[in-house]
Amino acid sequence: MAEEVNPFDSLQSQIDEAAAHLDVPDDVIERLKHPERVLETNLTVELDDGSLERFTAFRAQFNGDRGPYKGGIRYHPQVSRDEVKALSGWMTYKTAIVDVPLGGGKGGIVVDPADYSTAELERLTRAFAKELRPMIGEDRDIPAPDVNTGQREMNWIKDTYETLENTTEPGVITGKNLASGGSEGRVEATGRSTVIAAREAFDYLDKDLEGATVAVQGYGNAGWIAAKLIDEMGATVVAASDSSGGIYDPDGFDPVAAKEHKNETGSVVGFEGSEEEITNEDVLTMDVDLLIPAALENAIDADLAEQVEADVISEAANGPLTPAADEVLEEKDVFVIPDILANAGGVTVSYFEWVQNRNRFYWSERKVNEELESHIVDGFDALVGTLEEHDLENPRTAAYVVAIQRVADAFEEAGTFP
Ligand code: GLU
Repeated sequence: MAEEVNPFDSLQSQIDEAAAHLDVPDDVIERLKHPERVLETNLTVELDDGSLERFTAFRAQFNGDRGPYKGGIRYHPQVSRDEVKALSGWMTYKTAIVDVPLGGGKGGIVVDPADYSTAELERLTRAFAKELRPMIGEDRDIPAPDVNTGQREMNWIKDTYETLENTTEPGVITGKNLASGGSEGRVEATGRSTVIAAREAFDYLDKDLEGATVAVQGYGNAGWIAAKLIDEMGATVVAASDSSGGIYDPDGFDPVAAKEHKNETGSVVGFEGSEEEITNEDVLTMDVDLLIPAALENAIDADLAEQVEADVISEAANGPLTPAADEVLEEKDVFVIPDILANAGGVTVSYFEWVQNRNRFYWSERKVNEELESHIVDGFDALVGTLEEHDLENPRTAAYVVAIQRVADAFEEAGTFP
């Protein structure tokens, strides 16, 4: 089990690391290390048996210098104030590195949704939406899906907000389904950017993606789509895992069939198309060309990093490496494409969804994917340009140098009020 690391400490040390290479004053950096505000609320929800249950929920608005706060809402027992603060900071630098005109936010409810009925989850979601209503809006703060939430929850939040506001404002939230004003390509977007970034990294490192071996930790929306798309690009997915365990086949397996197995049984474990069963840790330390961590924070700590054998890591999850793991991997010359770029496809297509909602004019999937491609490739080029210009070793630091500078520029140009 990985060491306990507070993700908010990780965020702040990542910012400090980058600040050392920037000409941004310390007092501005101090602003950029803390959220502007955090809502903490207790939601009282009626369960199906008529009893009441209290749930703690948070929404952090980290930074709005470049546009409305933007970021998902997760449902997980591990949600905490500091986790939400960290995730909202990562959103701020994510929207900056891919250059979409948005800030950063994040929310969460401390809950394991598997323990509740659909009706209970709907009441919980609507209770949270009612609390969020005064602080969200298409020009204020725009939530989206995250761990254990998806189109269904986004549709409920949109409906609650629009009902209470007596308006139609689909751009108040993104990640909706198409009938509720969602965008083509949004569901696939996180996995898609993870593999676009990996392709760019392989190209930069002069490595061949065709025939490269890939291990994917986490087989949710981001992980399984990344597996499917990288397989389509000619790489070979040899290992995958979820919270129940992992599967391995040295010759590769069909990522879509593995997903179908997971849909039927709840896990990739037991998938007949793979050769053997392995642990989650085996997946992370496998001798592969590309590792895609696509689960939660702190999946790889310093000890585990010592055992990592991948050449390239593309972070589909937010914060999967501890700062100490990052140092070990830098020493080992592993090229880590940081979360704020690798998984930025989700928020980038959320931005497109918001643009479409505001224009009431909808794009084809082809246009969405073309625009996504250009934002991720431009972000990667900016990262690599900074890596070389500042003679940096760590791509994460380079990404933060680019992103912090962009946020600092917006702040300094606007000045302070009052
Ligand atoms: N939850 C996703 C993320 O961490 C998407 C956020 C969004 O679309 O606003 O990037």
